[in-house]
Amino acid sequence: MGEKLGACEVLLRSLSRRTIPKRRSEGRGAFMTVLRIILGDQLSDELATLTDLDPEHDIVLMMEVEQESTYVRHHKQKIVLVLSAMRHFAASLRERGVTVDYVRLDAPENTGRFTTEVQRAVVRHRPHRIVMTEPSEWRVQALVEGWAALMGIPVEVRADDRFFASRARFAAWARGRRSWRMEHFYREMRREHGILIEGDQPAGGEWNYDQANRKSLPAGTVLPDRPRFLPDAITREVMALVEQRFGEHFGELENFGWPVSRADALRALDDFMDDCLPSFGDYQDAMKAGESFLFHSLLAPALNLGLLSPREVCRAAEAAWRAGRAPLNAVEGFVRQILGWREYVRGVYWTLMPDYADRNALQATRKLPAFYWTGETPMNCLREAIGSTARYAYSHHIQRLMVTGNFALLAGLAPAEIERWYLAVYADAFEWVEMPNTLGMAVFADGGQMASKPYAASGAYIDRMSDFCDACAYDVKQKSGPKACPFNYLYWAFLIRQKDRLSGNARLAMPYRTLGSWPQERKAAILAEADTFLDQLDVNE
Ligand SMILES: Cc1cc2nc3c(=O)[nH]c(=O)nc-3n(C[C@H](O)[C@H](O)[C@H](O)COP(=O)(O)OP(=O)(O)OC[C@H]3O[C@@H](n4cnc5c(N)ncnc54)[C@H](O)[C@@H]3O)c2cc1C
Ligand code: SF4
Repeated sequence: MGEKLGACEVLLRSLSRRTIPKRRSEGRGAFMTVLRIILGDQLSDELATLTDLDPEHDIVLMMEVEQESTYVRHHKQKIVLVLSAMRHFAASLRERGVTVDYVRLDAPENTGRFTTEVQRAVVRHRPHRIVMTEPSEWRVQALVEGWAALMGIPVEVRADDRFFASRARFAAWARGRRSWRMEHFYREMRREHGILIEGDQPAGGEWNYDQANRKSLPAGTVLPDRPRFLPDAITREVMALVEQRFGEHFGELENFGWPVSRADALRALDDFMDDCLPSFGDYQDAMKAGESFLFHSLLAPALNLGLLSPREVCRAAEAAWRAGRAPLNAVEGFVRQILGWREYVRGVYWTLMPDYADRNALQATRKLPAFYWTGETPMNCLREAIGSTARYAYSHHIQRLMVTGNFALLAGLAPAEIERWYLAVYADAFEWVEMPNTLGMAVFADGGQMASKPYAASGAYIDRMSDFCDACAYDVKQKSGPKACPFNYLYWAFLIRQKDRLSGNARLAMPYRTLGSWPQERKAAILAEADTFLDQLDVNE
């Protein structure tokens, strides 16, 4: 992680020896040039970096650096999305008369790293200071912390006020609490921001409509057409570049259809509000073969890049309810994801990093099976989730949590291995949101900091919430034997193996009571069957 400052210093010295070009100011009177850095997920007009921008004198620096595309081998669609959205944002700034120094990935002199690119820009423009907004990821923040000393000018890092809760606000909430339950944080956020609140009580009288939001999809349900945004000339140029530079990365490019500009993102938001929000709650947890999107919003990439603000998205959902265009269970369920989960995981990330990355409470060590990359497995649920991931750089939350995540948990995959996978494969994957979801929610690596129990489930859950089992090589009803659904014996083997760590958890009392009533031989047979299955996976790597 991170660049070696020693190497950067060498480069800075060598750059300083070159002839320094004249500043734009020279000959036009003295003024203070501010270099304003905008990172790839800071594509918002209201970004703190830009609030006091002086278009006459300031320079905005945007950098496409190779290191950001390769520190994990991101899905090709993710790289195209970020670079195309950056190029569109730069174009919109230029239209407003802002001077943008944009370093393209394929510029011959591009050094491929943030620190050395900022150094080169400092030599080019001789700014008096640098202004930027706090990076969203710890890895980049660690770089930025060295810049003032390295560049010899002040670097002002502003809080990212695009979120509902600042890092300090979350830390204040978490301080002194034994458990950090999302529900408690979410209720405070609802009150603090007045979203779905009447007086000081929740709209409709309940804080949580989750009970109404666990339906499977009835056969014959007509799903809405989803807008996919056809690549324009800018996106097509980036696609060619990505295919040429990162052709061996995971995923298909031909289905690229993500919004890459604010205008497209607003269209996607409108479309979701009209066609999907009313059913979002009911089928939030449902899965269906051949259908990747159902009623989900597909807005995470636009939100995470800054093309949409969480405030406007939550307000739009609330307005739809108040206008009678969507029921409360749907709107509350949707707002909970953004005002609740999204803010909460960011708080967890910034409060617990960098140690959080190394958590492994269940001591899981297995390597990632090859099928996570190829989708080649007889388990239909995994094939569906991974197939959608390759095609669209997307699978929805329940596929991530209860299919690929559940398998990783039950199979004992090393948290760092599965965490790198999630970071690589989704268009919306940014470490601040991906890591707590993976370590805290999917594989319980934080030992219960986030979740009150592991999200472990047998095949019965997947069967109830999907039609995947109908076309599977395995039989979800069988508990053992060559045709038995692997999730069934893996589930019990997981509980047996983790008995010392988990049997004291009140929410697991029921399955542990069941296990306690089984004879030793039955438990030994389950462990043996699970081991045989898992050992074959390793052979396939
Ligand atoms: C193992 C795992 C890894 C994940 N990695 C990411 C990631 O890298 N980036 C990411 O944005 N989300 C991640 N999530 C959360 C969630 O799955 C995605 O936000 C969601 O699937 C994106 O699709 P959507 O926009 O259609 O979401 P919708 O289902 O329409 O939800 C609406 C919005 O709520 C927010 N949201 C929903 N659930 C969560 C959550 N658990 N945490 C944070 N925000 C949430 C997202 O901004 C999303 O766009 C992960 C979840 C799991 C279980
Ligand atoms: S039978 Fe088991 S492996 Fe097959 S789709 Fe159902 S849950 Fe998945």
